[in-house]
Amino acid sequence: MRDQTTYDAIVIGSGMTGGWAAKELTEKGLKTLVLEAGRPIIPEQDYVEHVPPWEVKFRGMRDRRRELEDQPVQSTCYACDEWSAKFFVSDKENPYTTEPGKPFRWIRGRQVGGRSIVWGRQVYRWSDLDFEANLRQGIAIDWPIRYTDIAPWYDHVEDFIGVSGEALGLPQLPDSKFLPPMDLNCSEMVVRDAIAKHFGGERVLTIGRVAILTKAHRGRAACHYCGPCERGCITRSYFNSVNATLPAAEETGRMTLRPYSVVHSVSFDARTRRATGVRVIDARTRASFEFRAKVIFLCASALESVRILYNSSTSEFPNGLANSSGELGHNLMDHVKSGGATATIPGNEDRVIVGRRPNGIYIPRFRNVKSKQAEFLRGYGFQGGGHREGWERGITQAGFGQEFKKSLRQPGPWRFTFNGFGECLPNHGNYVELDKEKVDAWGIPVLKIHCTWSDNERAIRKDMSIAASEMLAAAGAREIDPFADDDPPGFAIHEMGTARMGRDPKTSVLNSYNQAHDIKNLFITDGGAMVSSSCVNPSLTYMALTARACDYAVKQMKRGEL
Ligand SMILES: Cc1cc2nc3c(=O)[nH]c(=O)nc-3n(C[C@H](O)[C@H](O)[C@H](O)COP(=O)(O)OP(=O)(O)OC[C@H]3O[C@@H](n4cnc5c(N)ncnc54)[C@H](O)[C@@H]3O)c2cc1C
Ligand code: SF4
Repeated sequence: MRDQTTYDAIVIGSGMTGGWAAKELTEKGLKTLVLEAGRPIIPEQDYVEHVPPWEVKFRGMRDRRRELEDQPVQSTCYACDEWSAKFFVSDKENPYTTEPGKPFRWIRGRQVGGRSIVWGRQVYRWSDLDFEANLRQGIAIDWPIRYTDIAPWYDHVEDFIGVSGEALGLPQLPDSKFLPPMDLNCSEMVVRDAIAKHFGGERVLTIGRVAILTKAHRGRAACHYCGPCERGCITRSYFNSVNATLPAAEETGRMTLRPYSVVHSVSFDARTRRATGVRVIDARTRASFEFRAKVIFLCASALESVRILYNSSTSEFPNGLANSSGELGHNLMDHVKSGGATATIPGNEDRVIVGRRPNGIYIPRFRNVKSKQAEFLRGYGFQGGGHREGWERGITQAGFGQEFKKSLRQPGPWRFTFNGFGECLPNHGNYVELDKEKVDAWGIPVLKIHCTWSDNERAIRKDMSIAASEMLAAAGAREIDPFADDDPPGFAIHEMGTARMGRDPKTSVLNSYNQAHDIKNLFITDGGAMVSSSCVNPSLTYMALTARACDYAVKQMKRGEL
């Protein structure tokens, strides 16, 4: 069935980047259709951050039988619990495949708001250390932009979302436009001061930079430290699409948001060399629709956008629409994690934590910044933090009887953990393709993912455990327990790079404004566009690139060039 309306723009996906595209395009005057595969979200009914454990069926201990059947992959994510499981996909309905012995953990959200509902809210700017790295080291291709190109768009995004944090003036981690920072707790102050004393200013511990409000901002309330943000936030204190960008788009009166709209493919007119619209399957009725628009923004996430383009192949583009370069689906990156250390921090036994601060500490990258590391290229940062153990330690500690129970009524020791997030190098051999044998619940071919760590990522992970242990030792920590686990790619949930930007259409899918080299009215503004991965959480950069691409597209349209 063909919808007779021709929209100015279609945005595919309503998550982190789709929300931004919807806001920017509608505010700039475009009649915009947002197509979202998942269900709508009504905060008053769907958010469950204040529901106590005794009001959920398994008291917060999860329905393990259901998880095994329906969410065996999603339930491995730390944020997918008995409350928030509904914000993650059904693995049964949304399968994907991998090669034997090469697992990839693909964590997804399929609802209005996408993964912005459950994300960790950590937001960090990239620097020219990141944008210039490929060129300097002769790896993959050069970024077609530098920090000065994106800095005003970081400002633009941060002004709207609200970012709390501490300014440090570090060249490798430019400061954002900050709301007041959250406080460190006393164990974190002990570790911060020891690091400042023992590492010559090279390593710095600060509070995490988060898209959470520490004071009222643009009609949204300050955070009240209830804690489990992955279950939603009725006071709209952290940024997600449902809380902020989609309401802004709605306010313009120019957005049509269509949930339950699974985009199958993009249609292409070989004569005009333009994308003409998208083919959609209704998630509930299975009916097919076609929607038309002058410009199309793919914001379905780095892997789903590629899947849509692979399913849109034509005789001219047999290996995926807009893929004359052959790079579509290649250069898949994630961040390498699972390296760090945990320990007990003695002292402060007379103090306890008040409230549930939804944030931890951050140690900006210090490897390969001033001095050169022989074992690996690029670097990593640490997240983590300190907490005082409570009665839950009884679940893992051995013991029984009255005395044991009594001891658990007293607070335990202060514990501290460093978790590294390391840069992954772009590699053409890490790629996705369509699996010819398998389809999802709507009959659409699924992805087969081929991705493994290189020696560089393994060396980074090993170094994380050493550097974390050194810092804990400097802080007088006891029972230091380093870890460097061999977790598969996907674990950091920062998949990116599958439709990279570049100057040369022969080696890249997009130009420096996220516009497909091959099809001028097609933009990809999710993580697919990334040319390298930096070591910091990527979503702030995706949002800034999306806003920048929208500005460019609308200017081009107004000039009649699009
Ligand atoms: C637990 C967790 C913690 C995280 N923490 C952080 C963090 O601290 N900092 C950070 O920077 N990043 C974090 N991330 C990653 C972050 O969530 C993603 O980078 C970000 O959401 C990507 O934005 P996106 O718009 O590309 O995709 P998404 O937000 O996933 O949105 C994609 C949307 O497209 C829709 N869609 C997909 N396919 C189709 C289709 N065929 N048709 C129609 N719609 C479709 C989906 O349903 C979804 O709503 C975290 C992620 C998770 C899961
Ligand atoms: S901790 Fe703050 S941001 Fe998180 S859900 Fe509670 S009020 Fe919202």
